[in-house]
Amino acid sequence: MSTFVDDFMAELKAQNPAEPEFHQAVQEVVESLEPVIERNPQYRQAKILERMAEPERVILFRVPWVDDKGEIQLNKGYRVQMNSAIGPYKGGLRFHPSVYLGLLKFLAFEQVFKNSLTTLPMGGGKGGSNFDPKGKSDREVMAFCQSFMTELCQHVGTRTDIPAGDIGVGGREIGFLFGQYKRVRNEFVGVLTGKGIEYGGSLIRPEATGYGAVYFAAEMLATRNQTLEGKTCLVSGSGNVAQYAVEKILDLGGKPVTFSDSGGYIYDEAGLDREKHAFLLTLKNVRRGRVSEYADRFPGAVYTPVDTARGFNPLWAHKADCAFPCATQNEIALTDAQNLVANGVALVSEGANMPTVPEGVNLFVEKKLLYGPGKAANAGGVATSGLEQSQNSLRLSWTREEVDARLHGIMKSIHRQCVDAAAAYGAEGNYVAGANIAGFLKVANAMTAQGVV
Ligand code: NAP
Repeated sequence: MSTFVDDFMAELKAQNPAEPEFHQAVQEVVESLEPVIERNPQYRQAKILERMAEPERVILFRVPWVDDKGEIQLNKGYRVQMNSAIGPYKGGLRFHPSVYLGLLKFLAFEQVFKNSLTTLPMGGGKGGSNFDPKGKSDREVMAFCQSFMTELCQHVGTRTDIPAGDIGVGGREIGFLFGQYKRVRNEFVGVLTGKGIEYGGSLIRPEATGYGAVYFAAEMLATRNQTLEGKTCLVSGSGNVAQYAVEKILDLGGKPVTFSDSGGYIYDEAGLDREKHAFLLTLKNVRRGRVSEYADRFPGAVYTPVDTARGFNPLWAHKADCAFPCATQNEIALTDAQNLVANGVALVSEGANMPTVPEGVNLFVEKKLLYGPGKAANAGGVATSGLEQSQNSLRLSWTREEVDARLHGIMKSIHRQCVDAAAAYGAEGNYVAGANIAGFLKVANAMTAQGVV
């Protein structure tokens, strides 16, 4: 058994070369599951893990579109349909220049476990394009989205695969994608989530991932009889997840002091308040500006541009109690993790997917931080997407309070599942093990029941 992880990873890397993020995501899960496989040899015999690491289907396609100068542009489109054992594929679309198949396989793999944890019947998938919406006009974004959906609409549907947003795909993009789906397929259905309120969206969906990461943090703190009240919080990113993590930190009495974009970060020692938060929302969502402008508007705040020669991210080197990475994968390197621990951070709740490198994760676990991995801590977004689907099927809309209460309940349930699964396998307090084990068992049992498919 001791060579199980090494053997598994050697085979996976040989079969899926040059996909480092995918290898990283699978390795963490396989390591956590070693005791489960040991106790339940039927999963090994049925090759459940091997099958879970192989997408059920991958769709790759050409996305041609015309820019504002009349020139033809070309991008790559992808949808990874990873696992449908417990429900139709569900997971976001990412539009970012760094998108390639390996990145989407990592995200789709994580999504399977995350969706299982939500308690809702959702399989896992992920998709996107190397298209960069930044700096494009609304018309260019629309032209791209229409071309992308013209192909994708053949492969998705309310009973098959229901995409949502992710990096670079917000309300504007979902609107253009939905419009094209409806036009080509001639059906008004909830094939996408994250829709506008006027055409089937759910209240609280935009807030859900950030809110959920903070609810999860509050649950972790409660295990040590603490709350967020008065706690200084480092937040990274300034997109959808970061914006609403900041809002919920404020709601619960915490003090957010940082946020960032790919150009640099803001440190506001006095902390954000409602007025500053409202400025941030308008800056990013309406004016589509850069975070540096915040320091011009609020003189006490300091803007520090990214400097790759520095070798670490100074955002993670401020004194604080809690950290909420909400930007992107591997944004907390080992040095950053060491800085967090040295500066007194006792809680990390991941709004982003896989934002911490494996050595950083090991450090957090070893130092007994309250460490909520992304697949548990940021599951509130997809959970509320599931609630959007329910409302679409019922043809009604729940109130803000009702959706928020359901989201809160789901985050508490995810926290409880992590705690219980970790304890059942002798890893008390280890949320990485707990999330991986609890997420795995439901999918593994469904796959076993469904035979060799
Ligand atoms: P978003 O609205 O597009 O915002 C992303 C933020 O992260 C922006 O501030 C962006 O800065 C920054 N960022 C992106 N790539 C970066 C990079 N390579 N280096 C530094 N900064 C970078 O996306 P989002 O929806 O908030 O997603 C953020 C994270 O949460 C992702 O890991 C995503 O997978 C995860 N997540 C999202 C949801 C959801 O419901 N949206 C659900 C679960 C998990 P720029 O503007 O400069 O690019």
